[in-house]
Amino acid sequence: MKKQFAVIGLGRFGGSICNALADEGMDVLAIDSNEYRVNEFAQVVTQAVIADGMDEKALRGLGIRNFDNVIVAIGDNIQASIMTTIVLDEIGVKHITVKAQNDYHEKVLRRIGAHEVIHPERDIGVRVAHSIVSKSVLDYLELSEDYSIVELEAGQLLDGKSLLDLDIRETYECNVLAIKRGEDVHVSPRPEVDISEGDILIIVGADGDIARLEARWI
Ligand code: ADP
Repeated sequence: MKKQFAVIGLGRFGGSICNALADEGMDVLAIDSNEYRVNEFAQVVTQAVIADGMDEKALRGLGIRNFDNVIVAIGDNIQASIMTTIVLDEIGVKHITVKAQNDYHEKVLRRIGAHEVIHPERDIGVRVAHSIVSKSVLDYLELSEDYSIVELEAGQLLDGKSLLDLDIRETYECNVLAIKRGEDVHVSPRPEVDISEGDILIIVGADGDIARLEARWI
């Protein structure tokens, strides 16, 4: 069965989530207290409704409890974001995802029942910093404080070398998840596969190990 999502708050962030979910063909209920915002999304999502996220009765009336994931994307109004999260928790929503404005907001959200807290500005900042610091890092995903997945572009040094030659697993304790070459993606490449300059390696490992690997080979 198709997953059902509800997005409360249709600013830039909530709005782009609605667009992306709708593009994926998901069922989306879009909610905002502002009529203009709701009208903007009426043609995009399954259903767009004017309602206040803090209004428990209204949310119950919309059957919010049955949604697989409810995303609270209320921007600057921290109080409304917190109150909405409390209401969703009281109703017993299965998975509540909330956008946090700062670390303090995040702490409060976790205490009051948010299952997932996202910090888009901070996360994008870290990503941009990584790609500025290292010109070979194309993209970056932090798995934990110490582990990441990175996309590295193979330079001349790697041309014609195999993963075995690099000894990625033994020496660097990293794993190559996939190699992208143009439109082709080789998932879980075999150790003897040859790398060409311009290939994109998707690597998982400890940050320090990835940095060592990059310093030596990229
Ligand atoms: P962004 O930073 O993502 O652009 P904004 O602050 O511009 O966020 O937008 C947040 C949206 O949340 C606005 O459309 C606003 O009308 C909506 N919003 C704020 N408070 C509530 C609330 N209590 N219930 C529903 N929607 C709300």
